Amino acid sequence: MDLLTKITEVRSGLDVHRAEGRTVGLVPTMGYLHAGHASLMTAAVGDNDITIASIFVNPLQFGEGEDLDSYPRDLDRDLEICRAEGIDMVFAPSVEEMYPRPVDTVVTVPTVSAPLEGVARPYHFSGVATVVAKLFSIVGPCRAYFGAKDWQQLAVIRRMAVDLSMPVEVVDCPIVREPDGLALSSRNFYLTADERAQAPVIRRALDLGIELVVDGETNPKVIESAMATKVATAPLGELDYAAAVPAETLVADSVLAGEVRLLLAVRFGKARLIDNDGAFIREV
Ligand code: AMP
Repeated sequence: MDLLTKITEVRSGLDVHRAEGRTVGLVPTMGYLHAGHASLMTAAVGDNDITIASIFVNPLQFGEGEDLDSYPRDLDRDLEICRAEGIDMVFAPSVEEMYPRPVDTVVTVPTVSAPLEGVARPYHFSGVATVVAKLFSIVGPCRAYFGAKDWQQLAVIRRMAVDLSMPVEVVDCPIVREPDGLALSSRNFYLTADERAQAPVIRRALDLGIELVVDGETNPKVIESAMATKVATAPLGELDYAAAVPAETLVADSVLAGEVRLLLAVRFGKARLIDNDGAFIREV
């Protein structure tokens, strides 16, 4: 496995494989890898001849007062995980390599970015879209792998790839969870023992919401308030949002129909955790 830090090294390293007609898969990450990231790598290695994982904590997607400086990092451990997954190349650039001068060109996907995460973090998705567009341009992957845990991010990236005719298949991978239902996240690292013990309330709130959707509840307010009430049973959790929205647009609707996505953001101490799940409204 090669560890590359320069854009030119990635291009020349992959050109050799492309000349031989090999397919290339990309797994973008911010590192501090866990089994959720590993599942994306397993899928990518299975689908492609050559797989490259990127590890880059992207300053563009963090706002002021957020955890850019304290974001957990452990490159040696990450490389072990990549090696064990059969990754061929790891691209771990410095901030200077990715952004040698202040960025003037940004990618924005305003409609998909606006609700939910976009309300709390208005700059976030343009930072994500810009770095992913840059990674697509550096790597030129046939396929790129993203987790359904970051559902709105996935929607933003899909929309960007379609709108800009990017020649890449965006592949989504299921959420990997702890046995008690907590979605794996690098930010779980911030949880104290007490917060960790209460955090699975997020999964329980989603389960409750799913139950309502499956039973045919079409009023998003009823579902959202049931999920919020469930989260409130965890004294250390502070709800940011609980949303029941159409899965495709993510834009709030007064009556739900068809496929619904339930999304939660809950703060536990220093960690802001997001999670989601989906179901279809039962036809009656
Ligand atoms: P991050 O390093 O947090 O930027 O995540 C990199 C990729 O891993 C994103 O596409 C995430 O959606 C995905 N990911 C993070 N956690 C999970 C998880 N628990 N299950 C599946 N994918 C995940």
